[in-house]
Amino acid sequence: MRIGDFYERSEPVFSFEFFPPKNQQGVESLLRTVAELKQVGSPDFVSVTYGAGGGTRTRTLECVTRIQQEAGIPAMAHLATMGHTRDELAQVIQGLVDSGISNILALRGDKPKDGLTQAGELGHATDLMEFLASDFDVDFGGACYPEVHPEAASASDDMRWAKKKAESGARFLITQLFFDNQDYFRFHDEARTAGIRVPIVPGLMPITNLAHIERITSMCSARIPEELHDRLGAVREDPAAVMAIGLEHTIRQCRQLLKEGAPGLHFYTLNKSLATRVILSALQD
Ligand code: FAD
Repeated sequence: MRIGDFYERSEPVFSFEFFPPKNQQGVESLLRTVAELKQVGSPDFVSVTYGAGGGTRTRTLECVTRIQQEAGIPAMAHLATMGHTRDELAQVIQGLVDSGISNILALRGDKPKDGLTQAGELGHATDLMEFLASDFDVDFGGACYPEVHPEAASASDDMRWAKKKAESGARFLITQLFFDNQDYFRFHDEARTAGIRVPIVPGLMPITNLAHIERITSMCSARIPEELHDRLGAVREDPAAVMAIGLEHTIRQCRQLLKEGAPGLHFYTLNKSLATRVILSALQD
């Protein structure tokens, strides 16, 4: 079961992203969230992030394995080079393969704020991809950035590395979250012009809390369109109104992306099911 194959079919591929909880109670709660989401419409696959330098790394393996085995949903493990030697990465990858996980999102990882974690022995995502392609029987994808990665020397340089990911064997690229579909469409067109042929999957984060989304967008340099930000700002103190405006926006984004032929939708769920359930139900209507 290779996730790259899913994108070769004609219907859009739906996927949900989770992060590994800090404790065992959190893992059980995550499995309940996955089960709730499965009731509304089973995702084609789920993915679980990998903490670059954090203490939750071993939980990524536990979560992907349990989701795949207990919920019966294909699961993809994120893997970041940050802070790892080549041998450590080989052990993590072998652990995934031995547990039946054959899909990986290959990343460099964010630079941790602990000041202790060193860059990985394999520096960039493309180095990890070359390692995966040469030594392991797994399928993998990578990340890309419609609004340009914050550390990139330029947009064209960033595009060059996105292309290198496809050349290194990535079968699909999942975008950083964005709130203006024009950013995705422009990036998609430029990627095709640059010769990137793999599916470019929109990554979407439903807005449910303004302060939270402001913090996330400032970290990853994503832009909330001014008009949307003004509308959300006007009801900042009313959580239900923020959520209603945020979800209405995401639903509109999803409908337009699907209409224009996006290969799928990847939801950053933040381990909560409500927002994604509302969006999926609206899309089914
Ligand atoms: P890279 O592709 O290595 O890019 C990093 C920077 O270096 C970019 O500016 C790029 O232009 C440049 N670059 C790329 N390749 C080269 C090269 N070969 N030589 C020189 N420069 C190069 N982070 C986590 O820690 N854990 C996760 O689970 C996680 N999941 C994510 C999922 C998605 C869908 C996305 C979009 C991001 C995710 N992130 C995660 C965040 C990601 O790790 C950060 O955005 C990180 O800063 C860059 O990761 P990357 O894999 O894109 O790095």
